[in-house]
Amino acid sequence: MSFRLLQERRVAGELPGPRSVALAARRSAAVAAGVGSTMAVYAADADGGVVVDVDGNSFIDLGSGIAVTSVGASAPRVVAAVQEAAARFTHTCFTITPYEGYVAVAEKLAELTPGSHEKRSALFNSGAEAVENAVKIARLATGRDAIPYKKGFGPFAPEIYRMPMSYPFRDGLDGKETAERAISQIVAQVGVDSVAAVLIEPIQGEGGFVVPAEGFLPALAAWCASSGALFIADEIQSGFCRTGDWFAAEHEGLVPDIVTTAKGIAGGMPLAAVTGRAAIMDAVHPGGLGGTYAGNPVACAAGLASIETMAEWDLNAAARRIEALAVPLLREVASATGRIGDVRGRGAMLAVEFTEAGTTVPDPAAAAAVAAACHRAGVIVLTCGTYGNVVRLLPPLVIPEPLLLEGLDVLTSAVTAL
Ligand SMILES: *Cc1c(COP(=O)(O)O)cnc(C)c1O
Repeated sequence: MSFRLLQERRVAGELPGPRSVALAARRSAAVAAGVGSTMAVYAADADGGVVVDVDGNSFIDLGSGIAVTSVGASAPRVVAAVQEAAARFTHTCFTITPYEGYVAVAEKLAELTPGSHEKRSALFNSGAEAVENAVKIARLATGRDAIPYKKGFGPFAPEIYRMPMSYPFRDGLDGKETAERAISQIVAQVGVDSVAAVLIEPIQGEGGFVVPAEGFLPALAAWCASSGALFIADEIQSGFCRTGDWFAAEHEGLVPDIVTTAKGIAGGMPLAAVTGRAAIMDAVHPGGLGGTYAGNPVACAAGLASIETMAEWDLNAAARRIEALAVPLLREVASATGRIGDVRGRGAMLAVEFTEAGTTVPDPAAAAAVAAACHRAGVIVLTCGTYGNVVRLLPPLVIPEPLLLEGLDVLTSAVTAL
């Protein structure tokens, strides 16, 4: 593994620098205020574990553009594949003149997603589209309407029911208990015969990187199987090596009926997929799925190149190494400062939940202060969580170890300085 850009943290003077300040002025006159940005600096270049801004500052990237650039933001294979594909054709529309790349991505998804059953895939541009289409497919395949769901994304259409997740740090319940709680609510509020599917993130993303208690997901999947409901794993954030497996569902041996993917799948190009059992997926009539750009040929080429890169560089092992390096350091700073109530996550999907000293009371101000201190020091970290009190770490899986350790050191100092 070698990189085009120097893998170092380098901040010269005040942030944002003059070029970023100038861009911010142009932005506020042209870009809608509703579009926010975590950082005040504008990107000029990115590679491996760094993002370089327009003023030449180099940031350690512990965010991967929200778990997208797992292979890096300019992985050589991805760049070459994009250039080659774009030079041939940028678009024909798969629903008009199909092409091989789309088929090859679907073949890869069948091979890599959990279970050896026959599968089919449909490709899309974004995670939200994949979730919407998974719901549509589940309804058509089951002839039922209701979807118990937990999350802030995607459809808030009728017949979407939000159910309590397992949140070991806050509910103190084991997997069996939390599954029974969720199932009894589903039965009471929806009724067994109405449930088309249960849609769940194996590790909750925006909600706070919550890892459900062991046994919660298998119990929910078993209930689905016995009730004629489909079990849909939303692997948009947790998939593609992020947690140290190709998919987070593998950790407890789950075989979902449908898997949604996006984010890390294509090295930064917009690509998403719904992959499921052949009989379920093929319940939708020809022409019932798709979209103008869905499964764009350049994005498909990037997807295939990213998957090759993940296999070639064994990025599952890399994610596990990141966990092994980071978690002891995070636990240490948690016990030294008393400001972190919970250290959790798996692989390179890790988080610390800030609480008021000696309590479990959420402390969003602490998370915001730590994130801001990291940003000022040249480290990109993101926050998340229902209470906004979680700092999450999603480094590119290719990040060099010394750079990761330096980033963690900055984070640790920020927590200590609280
Ligand atoms: C990001 C995300 C989505 C939405 O994906 P977009 O590409 O932003 O539409 C859906 N589900 C999960 C778990 C996500 O992390």
